Amino acid sequence: MKKLHTFQLHERAQAAMVRDMLEEEGISCLLRNDQLFGAMGEIPLVECFPELWVVDDEVYPRASLLLKGLLRSDDAAEGWICRCGEELEGQFGACWRCGSHRRTP
Ligand SMILES: [Zn+2]
Repeated sequence: MKKLHTFQLHERAQAAMVRDMLEEEGISCLLRNDQLFGAMGEIPLVECFPELWVVDDEVYPRASLLLKGLLRSDDAAEGWICRCGEELEGQFGACWRCGSHRRTP
């Protein structure tokens, strides 16, 4: 099992979306630390960051590629507003709420 990505706390919803998308691709993953808000203060903050783990090492490279496509981390673009009204940060290529892909104006 390998850790694919660590999300920021405010990216919790996106983390779940990425997990779902990878599972749809047949990649088994685990989202850790996604239910720990109640425990905050008792454990170090960094322990609460949602972590996405790929269960099968063999599909890790593929999962990594898919994640890159989803997050577009090389694109330090400005935030954008989806057609459903959700405000998203620039690194996200798809809306976590409705699943729409980003459209350039
Ligand atoms: Zn949307």
